[in-house]
Amino acid sequence: MRSVRRHHNRKQFAARLVGKKIMGVERRGKYLLLRLDDGDVLVVHLGMSGQLLRTKTAREATAKHTHVVITFTQGGQLRFVDPRTFGEMFVTELDNVDEEVPELAHLGLDPLETAMSWEVFGSLLAQRHAKLKPLLMDQKFMAGIGNIYSDEILWGAGLRWDHMSDALTGQEVRRLYRSMMETLQDAVKYRGSSLADEQYVDLFGKPGGYQHHHNVYAREAQACPRCRHVIVRERVSGRSTYYCSACQV
Ligand SMILES: [Zn+2]
Repeated sequence: MRSVRRHHNRKQFAARLVGKKIMGVERRGKYLLLRLDDGDVLVVHLGMSGQLLRTKTAREATAKHTHVVITFTQGGQLRFVDPRTFGEMFVTELDNVDEEVPELAHLGLDPLETAMSWEVFGSLLAQRHAKLKPLLMDQKFMAGIGNIYSDEILWGAGLRWDHMSDALTGQEVRRLYRSMMETLQDAVKYRGSSLADEQYVDLFGKPGGYQHHHNVYAREAQACPRCRHVIVRERVSGRSTYYCSACQV
């Protein structure tokens, strides 16, 4: 029930989906919006551990912690699996989405969706006086960047997590911009990162491949791929932060 907690009960949630057609899917920040043919939207937030799985038939074994199963008329199912139940699913009118999820109303630019020049990115950085990592992860600043990708982006740019956003040279802004775009594009290309302690799989149940391309994340005490100095881990507001002790300044 926790997965559909915005509805009074499961029946009410189901009633808004039965007989509807999914017309399209878009991602906004860390949310997925599935547009339905009656103008409603099925909103999905994966939380820490949520997964959407698309099965070809209804007969495939149901994984533990499967909270929602949607069966398609054309065959197969969409299943929402969430061991830690931080994720959720709900149906609402398109116009209500921003009200239901204030985070979406205040979502920053999505670097993969909005064409943004490095100059615009630079002026956004200069308007803030913040440490780079928490700023990159702030969904009101940039949408869709989490803990893993902020570390990879900053390594790519050769910048430390606590470098101040308003103290960057033009060249550093360009490096950060380029690294952000390349890292996010690669993350999508390799279908995300599956880690030993998390259980991320893609829509078809396959683990992501981007963890094989991590340069710093979860590589504590290993050699930096760029300068061979040691990668260190630090706790920053409760999250592990990885960076090279030498070439990130
Ligand atoms: Zn290094």
